[in-house]
Amino acid sequence: MSITMNGGQIYQLISDLFPITRSITGDGVRQSFALIRKHIPIRIHEVPSGTTVLDWTVPPEWNISDAYIENDKGEKIVDFKKNNLHVLGYSIPVDETLTRKQLDEHLYSIPENPTAIPYRTSYYKKQWGFCLSHQQRMRLKNGKYHVCIKSSLKSGSLTYADIIIPGTSKKEILLSTYICHPSMANDNLSGVALTTFLSKWLLRQKKRRYTYRLVFVPETIGALTYLSKHYKKMRKEVVAGFILTCLGNDAAFSYLPSKYGDTLADRVAKYALKTTGKPFTSYSFLMRGSDERQYCSPGIGLPIVSVMRSKYCEFSQYHTSQDNLQFVTPHALEESFVLYQRMITILEMNKTYTANCLGEPQMGKRNLYPTIGMPYLPPETEKIMNLLMYADGGNDLLRIHELTGISVESLHEIAAVLTKQKLLRNV
Ligand code: ZN
Repeated sequence: MSITMNGGQIYQLISDLFPITRSITGDGVRQSFALIRKHIPIRIHEVPSGTTVLDWTVPPEWNISDAYIENDKGEKIVDFKKNNLHVLGYSIPVDETLTRKQLDEHLYSIPENPTAIPYRTSYYKKQWGFCLSHQQRMRLKNGKYHVCIKSSLKSGSLTYADIIIPGTSKKEILLSTYICHPSMANDNLSGVALTTFLSKWLLRQKKRRYTYRLVFVPETIGALTYLSKHYKKMRKEVVAGFILTCLGNDAAFSYLPSKYGDTLADRVAKYALKTTGKPFTSYSFLMRGSDERQYCSPGIGLPIVSVMRSKYCEFSQYHTSQDNLQFVTPHALEESFVLYQRMITILEMNKTYTANCLGEPQMGKRNLYPTIGMPYLPPETEKIMNLLMYADGGNDLLRIHELTGISVESLHEIAAVLTKQKLLRNV
């Protein structure tokens, strides 16, 4: 699999998706899928409101056309059409005139970050609200305010999408991302756009060993919905998986392990991160916060990790209007894309071999060994002998790398030569 560069195009898709008002249900998700579908042939699914999904129920569908606060002069001082973060997600409709004090109970701002509009939602408790910068909130004078939210909460459906890209094996690699956040770039249009371009790249590959399952769901309720339909198959087939989130800003990479940190996904993530040669941040599974909460739960237990840049909850722009198109860069997106391509390429290479011969094979007659006796072996020959020694049917190439320090890429190349010479076989 050859690595390609797509930073500019990934950034462009983020820019196209950025203005759309998304939530865990509603037309914004459908509009987003329509844009993604111009790139990859995703299958779009609708699950009716009221459907039981594991311990949860799919909520009513939420749509919104307008929302604003007007002062007593009739001036719109907070306007959803200028920034969709201004409305508390899943707000019920309202059309009332209130005092400053009454209004204040429905306002959300961040005193520690006074210029940012926060992103807030209330999916399961019926209420309404507006989000605004703390600076603006402090400037509101006493007087009357007209609040209007033109939203609807009706029986409809939850929309999600997936694409299955088959390989020669039924064993699967899962790439999952969440599509429910409105206008924020790093969390999580970066994950959505990266997953789209990884699908595009995987579809172009002539040969794939693994089958790839790429999933675009609203966070939490969408992952639960997806699992309720597919968990039996996924539990059987998924060998490694990733949650794609927060991959667009210029910061060091970070890694959130699986529950016990010892799965194939953990091993490939650590290998790929370590071999970038750059420092990265490791978190504990106790700092989890995205859909690994569902994918790794008891009874499901999938091998899932997150490789991110600035982790959700850990950057000052997180869940605010400052997580905007200036916060993510084509360069950072490209590096993230290349890192994911590399993890996938290594997973494809990471086979387990067994040596075909008892004792050391006679390498000289195969032109794999120096014909003149030397006090030490040339490095290439040493690599060959070390691979043959550890190819006992129990070690994949990542494990042999851990034992010998030889890169997986080199081991893969040597294994190809030795397989041709019938000294090794793939098990
Ligand atoms: Zn988030």
